[in-house]
Amino acid sequence: MLKKSKGLKSRLIELNKFDITNIEGSSSDKMKKIMPKVFKTVPKAISGYKREIAELPEEIQIAPKEFWNEVEEQAKNLGIDLIGFAPKDENLIFEEDHVGGIEVLYQNAIVLGMEMDYDAIETAPEFPAGAESMNIYAELGEATNKLTEFIRSKGYRAIACHPLGDPILYPAMAVKAGLGQIGRQGLLITKKFGPRQRLSVISANISPLPERSEVEFEIETYCRKYRRCVLMCPVSAIYNEPINKENGTVTRIDGDKCIEYFYETTGCSVCIKECPFHKIGYKAMYYSRL
Ligand code: SF4
Repeated sequence: MLKKSKGLKSRLIELNKFDITNIEGSSSDKMKKIMPKVFKTVPKAISGYKREIAELPEEIQIAPKEFWNEVEEQAKNLGIDLIGFAPKDENLIFEEDHVGGIEVLYQNAIVLGMEMDYDAIETAPEFPAGAESMNIYAELGEATNKLTEFIRSKGYRAIACHPLGDPILYPAMAVKAGLGQIGRQGLLITKKFGPRQRLSVISANISPLPERSEVEFEIETYCRKYRRCVLMCPVSAIYNEPINKENGTVTRIDGDKCIEYFYETTGCSVCIKECPFHKIGYKAMYYSRL
């Protein structure tokens, strides 16, 4: 259960590098409510994790189909928009979880997604877009903690992996869970929201996972054609051609270039706003191709 990373490194997002001191008016009021919530949900996840690992289970727990129906129902009640299931992939485990300090991961993963507000993202790279990212980190963080508690209350073992944390590569796990595909800017693209969601994971000592039928969703043709994120990124941080690494992972953006602008603008989000899967949605794109 102790996670074994094959050397994948993550980048720490330092929340104190966002300068929100010069934000005024209603935006400032909004941020004053959001940030404490972000800071509250992270320690909650950490304390839950510490409780969880105090005594690790010896065997994987078997759950009936009905249990998963309950989990999905509960997720919906908590405002979670997307849910998928996949076994943990060791190639996707980060060496260090900078935020949650998670060193134990169970065999299976429940991948969760929450939509970000369309209109807020349309303002990128202005402040309301970044504030919405923070808002969803807080909301999804809280929902992830609560769903994990719900699973534990049913007698199963589970670890909440906060959306700001990095024990495992969430977008790639979401692909394995059948939620979507990875876009040119490295974000998960879903049929429902395009790149406009944040992700988290619940690591679950539970088997078997619910079966899902494969959903046909091909985005490569569109990504090759439009390249809006590559062209519109204000600091040219998105590679024209992704770099395939030896360990099987793919690098799509220059993280150093992106992160500086990300801090400067309190969350940028231009590559979400410009993506046609967000702008006009998958259906419109599909029909425009016919
Ligand atoms: S978040 Fe902004 S800076 Fe970073 S890759 Fe996207 S558009 Fe470029």
